[in-house]
This record gives sequence, structure tokens and C-alpha cells, in this order.
Amino acid sequence: MGVMFRSSFQLEKLREQSVVEATLALANERADRLDKRIIEQDNAVKSLLDVGRRKDFGDQWLEVAGIQTPTIRAVLLVDLSSSSREVVAFASRAPGVEDEHFRRLLVGNMFSDMKLGAPDSDELRHLHKTYKGQSYLVSHWEREVAGRTYLVVLWHDVPRVIHELFPSLYPESDQQSRVNVVDADGRIIYGPPLSRGGLTIGRQFETTLYKWSLNVTMTSAEELGAAVARRRIVEIALVSLSGLVVIAGVIVILVAAARERNLSNLKSDFVANVSHELKTPLSLVRMFGELLQSGRVESDEKRDQYLRIIVSESERLGALIENVLDFAKVERGKAAYEFVECRPAEVVLRAIEVCRLRAEQEGFAIHTNLATNLPSVQLDERSIEIAVINLVDNALKYAADGKQVTVSVREVDAFIEIRVADEGPGILPEERKRIFERFVRGKETAQKRTRGSGIGLALVKHIAEAHGGKAWVEPREPRGSTFLFTISTKNRQDWSPTPSPDVSA
Ligand code: ADP
Repeated sequence: MGVMFRSSFQLEKLREQSVVEATLALANERADRLDKRIIEQDNAVKSLLDVGRRKDFGDQWLEVAGIQTPTIRAVLLVDLSSSSREVVAFASRAPGVEDEHFRRLLVGNMFSDMKLGAPDSDELRHLHKTYKGQSYLVSHWEREVAGRTYLVVLWHDVPRVIHELFPSLYPESDQQSRVNVVDADGRIIYGPPLSRGGLTIGRQFETTLYKWSLNVTMTSAEELGAAVARRRIVEIALVSLSGLVVIAGVIVILVAAARERNLSNLKSDFVANVSHELKTPLSLVRMFGELLQSGRVESDEKRDQYLRIIVSESERLGALIENVLDFAKVERGKAAYEFVECRPAEVVLRAIEVCRLRAEQEGFAIHTNLATNLPSVQLDERSIEIAVINLVDNALKYAADGKQVTVSVREVDAFIEIRVADEGPGILPEERKRIFERFVRGKETAQKRTRGSGIGLALVKHIAEAHGGKAWVEPREPRGSTFLFTISTKNRQDWSPTPSPDVSA
């Protein structure tokens, strides 16, 4: 997971890097536009001027100035060889008092900033500076003519650069970027303030207006940034999700392992319980059998009693063995039911008869409440008998203090409902569903060491489901519980699974 996080952040870094590179390239291109445009004008003037002709110096330029060099306001020629560095020619597009101010500024202040007489002074150079609160841009170069050194000065009209050149170079309608120009103190000279959200790159103009800088925000970079942020959220979500999946997987494995352990514990309890259940009746049968065989029992009454014990214990043994065998079949998925059309009440009565003797011995009264006119249904007689015997047997075992068992059969919608009600201790709400699972026994039962194997109710449930019905338990007022199971009255082909009632209520 750490690796995924790292690679996601590396990807994002790369993306950010490419955004920075793209914006930088854009800023360079935009700044170069201005330098290029001004230098083009300077070169145009350079090709038109003839330093040797002082008289009509600049006339040729004036003819085309408006079209070819819109930001150049005046062209001046200075004789550097004269002691006072005299301005010998002055061609202005808009003659006026400002020309005189400029001339004075040039002679008084600008010469000292121009590094005159430097080795490369015959090349085109620029001076960009603020004098008395006003920004000036001049282009200049030196020329030797007839042994004298002249300086050519091109006075650029800075307000015109701002109001005409900038808007044409950096239109606000530009889809790709937003641009502004700021002075050395960061004051905006041209353009809108740029938002701090996106990536803004500032770059000084290299050659001409070098005191000023151009700021560029790539509009698409903002979108790219937002996309990167969105992508990042998605990636983090994906990584977290896969983490959750891993955790869920581990939990599932742990739960499955715990269940498996639980089941194997239940199975070994089951084996111990079944062995115990087999041993007790067997030893009784053997003990009373031996007593009878020895001929030492003289009274007929006693002999009768011993015989009854032998019969009832072997019945119990038989029932237990049948239960275990049936359950084993169910577990292997081999339980085969033989469905025959018959009357459910008769089957239930037969099962009750099997239990009656034992019930009487234990002081129990079994009441029956069988509806008349019940329809015949398709069922497997033996397994329905086993289900009823299991429920009545449980009532005798667990509801011994109530001494009353009522078995009822009635028709409810498309089902025959068989209920076995007792007046015993009842079942804890949290155990009502679980006791129908194989090998599961009630907590209190396990503590009291009541005989049993935990497969009776699982078998009942399976039998009910095999008959298109279900099995559950309901609490009784004031005490006791009612175990119910249903059999579908429809043809077997029409059985459809129905949801189990909420037994935890
Ligand atoms: P066994 O009776 O062999 O333990 P069952 O599957 O028949 O297995 O029953 C499961 C558990 O349900 C019992 O251990 C007992 O705790 C509980 N139980 C079943 N019938 C009753 C009842 N009539 N009254 C109270 N508890 C019962």
C-alpha cells in the first residue's frame, strides 16, 4: 500500500513539474514578444537614418513613423565629440514643450546612465529608468563619421507602449493565459491582478523594459491543477479502498477460522454426548436383563417393571440411533424422502403414541389439539414422526417442571402447522435462532449436563424445509415455549422458499 501511495505522489510530482515547465515556456514566449517588437522598430529606424546628413536627419523616418514605429516618439542625434555633447538633430513626431524637457533630461541625467564610449557601444542598447517619477525607455547606439562620434537616441513613448502595444501583445481575450506587467515595486502597470490559486510565473523583460516584469498564469494550468487534485482524491480513495478490502479479507479469514474451531469443538462435544447417551440406556438394559436372567426376581410386579424399563430404554436407544443416522444422511446430503399422500394428523398421533409411555412414567400429560378436516398432503411419514418425537422428547427433557405438553395441528394458509408447547423454562431470546443449528445446545442445558447431542432441532429444521416449510420457536406466556414447524400443502413442484419468521423478537 505504501508503494502505491508513493507512486501516486511521484506521478503527481511529475504532473506538477510539467505544469511548471509549460507555464515557464509560456512566460518566456510572452516576454520575448515585447522585446522583439521594440527591437524591430529600432532596427527599422536604424536602416532609415543617415548619421552623416545632419540637416534632414530623421525626415525619412518621420514619413513612415506612424506606421512602422508607432511607439517611437522622437529620434535624436548627439555629437559626442563636442565638449558639451550637443544635440545636433531632433526629429519629433509631436513637437512641443516635452521635447525640450526630454532633451534636458538626456543631457543632464541619461548620458551618465548610458555607459557611453563602451567597447560595444556601436551596438543597439537600451536604457529603462524612472526619472522624476516617470518611466523612460530609450534605444541608442554610437556611430563614427568623419572622425567624430555620434550617438543616436530613439525616444520610446512609454504610455503608448502601455496603452497600445501591451493590449495588442497581451489581449485579455487570450484563452491560454492571463498576463500582467508590474514595475520593480510590484505595482501593476498593465493587466488584471492574477489569482493566487493558480500557478503564476514572473519573468523580467530581458532587453528593453528590463526594470519591469511580466507575470503569466496559464489558464489551462489551473484546470490541470484541479484535475490533479481530483485525480489525487480518486487515487487516495482507491488506495484506501484496497486497504479496506485487505482488512476485510483478513477479518473474513479470522472469522472463518474461529467458526471452524467452534464447529470442531461442537463436533467433539457431540461425539462425547452421543457416546454417553448410548451408554446409559445400554447399561440399564443390560443390568435389568441380567437381573431377570438370574431368576432372582421373584415378584411378578417387579419383573413387569424391569421389562418395561428394558423396553422403554431400548426405544430411547433406537430413537437416538435413528436420529444420528438420519442426521448423518442429512449432513452428507443423502437424505432421501419418500413423499406419499397422507393425513398429517394421523402421522402426528402415531408419533405421540411412541412418547406417551415415557411421558406417563415421568408424570407428564400430553394434550392434543388436532383440527378436523385437514387436507391430505404429500409427506415422508417417518421423518415427520421423527420431527414430532424430537420436539416432544425435548419437552419431556427440558420442561420437566411444567409437566404439560400440548401438541396441535392446524392449517394456516398453504401450510399445515405442527406446534409442540410446553410450560418449561423457555428459551433465551438470543438462543432462539442458534439452537436450530447442528450441535448447538442451550447454555443452561450444557451447564446442567442434561443428556442430548444438539442435533434434534437441526434435524427438525431440515425435515420441515424438505417439506416446503420451516421450523422456529416462540415464547409462551407466562412461561414455556412453543416449537413449530410447517409442511406445505401445495404440490411439491410448487414449493417456494418462504422467509423464516423473526424468532429473536
Ligand atoms: P439436544 O436436545 O440433544 O441438546 P436439540 O437440537 O434437540 O439438541 O436442542 C437444542 C437445544 O435447544 C437444547 O440443548 C436445549 O438447550 C434447547 N431446547 C430444546 N427444546 C427445548 C425446550 N422444550 N425447552 C427449553 N429448551 C429447549
